[in-house]
Amino acid sequence: MTQTTSSTAQSEALFARARAVTPGGVNSPVRAFKSVGGTPRFIREAHGAYLTDVDGARYIDYIGSWGPMILGHDHPAVREAISDALQYGTSFGAPGEREVELAELVTRLTGTQKVRFTSSGTEATMSALRLARGFTNQGGTGRKLIVKFRGNYHGHADGLLVEAGSGLMTNLDGALGASAPSSAGVPEEYAALTLVCEYNDPAALDTLMAERGAEVAAVIFEPVVGNAGVLIPTPEFLAALHRVQEAGALLIADEVMTGFRLSLNGATGLLGLRPDLTCWGKIIGGGLPVGAYGGRADVMDFVSPQGPVYQAGTLSGNPLAMAAGLATLRTLEADPGLYERLEAYTVRLADGLKEAAAEADVPISVNRIGSMLTPFFQDAPHGSVRNYTQASRSDTQGFGRWFQGLLSRGIYWAPSQFESIFVSASHTSAELAATLEAARAAFAALN
Ligand code: PLP
Repeated sequence: MTQTTSSTAQSEALFARARAVTPGGVNSPVRAFKSVGGTPRFIREAHGAYLTDVDGARYIDYIGSWGPMILGHDHPAVREAISDALQYGTSFGAPGEREVELAELVTRLTGTQKVRFTSSGTEATMSALRLARGFTNQGGTGRKLIVKFRGNYHGHADGLLVEAGSGLMTNLDGALGASAPSSAGVPEEYAALTLVCEYNDPAALDTLMAERGAEVAAVIFEPVVGNAGVLIPTPEFLAALHRVQEAGALLIADEVMTGFRLSLNGATGLLGLRPDLTCWGKIIGGGLPVGAYGGRADVMDFVSPQGPVYQAGTLSGNPLAMAAGLATLRTLEADPGLYERLEAYTVRLADGLKEAAAEADVPISVNRIGSMLTPFFQDAPHGSVRNYTQASRSDTQGFGRWFQGLLSRGIYWAPSQFESIFVSASHTSAELAATLEAARAAFAALN
């Protein structure tokens, strides 16, 4: 159960020390609680569905390390696999058996032909785009452009920090202009190679492809968006995405967040997608640093040393990380009812949140799919938020106060309106009841 404490003294002390030696005191921006205010909690340990901070407060965790911890923290199968691998050394800089096993498992589960491991999701998307440009530009077709969607985040490579969602929506206070890079330090020339379309707008994508399609190397997209809050694609939008393949561009599904989360074959399996390349991260490494990209063999064979597109990594295929990924995916595969259980919990969470908000007269619109969910603090037309423009109309102040209400009651929710939360296999009906009780009180306190 949760354990609340009014003291944040130890977290405050660590935050002060961290700020002196690390920009903003954190190693990834959204951890800083910038949009919701207050002191970020420094976490001492994590087990199952719970986090314990350095002041001794215990929280039900809905971040799950931003997605990887689908089995819950410190899962015995994952811990054992890492301990076992540890006996044989921590990094070889040469190929090993676990890389082959994980590649075989991933290609089998996802129906892809070949896969290359990296150490982060950012490296996976960045490398997939280089590959797409190298592959589609054979013989000098001049295909250099990338198309992405507003509010989709694909990691922090230069050309992808354009209208890039969550952390950027939360931290930049709208300081940069609409079609400019989402970060200082990204040359406009790089950003100019990335064209941006509204998500869930098939007509806009068709028009863009009609005008510039011959120059487009790839269209990259989140098949379910988590990084503007949860946005669910319409069938018409998915059909338009597949039309880009007819125009000679590669379709790249960024399943870093949704891969192995929405099904064993991610959103691709759930929604019937046919991407040329797919990127993974998060769950594929079971809480250790792993990313991957893969897809059609003819495209993947363009990657070095087989082909001309260079991509490498000192720690790629690291044996501990491969062991954690293998244990996680094998555990998911061995439990056929798991995705249904995750979904059932998340449906009850969504229904409970709507009910509690309505009782307190707080307008919210909940977007949910599988075990991903965002309560947008707004009364969305037709009950659901469809795109980034609509998501950004949410009452972020109200969300921030609700977030603090949850935190003080032992619930660790994502500290931004523009994020998904993640339910894990270790959340049970006891955690659900405690969460809804806290949520009800936090909504009531907004009035
Ligand atoms: N793509 C998506 C959809 C993501 O959600 C993220 C991270 O949140 C990334 C790419 C980048 O992954 P990483 O943080 O491992 O570099």
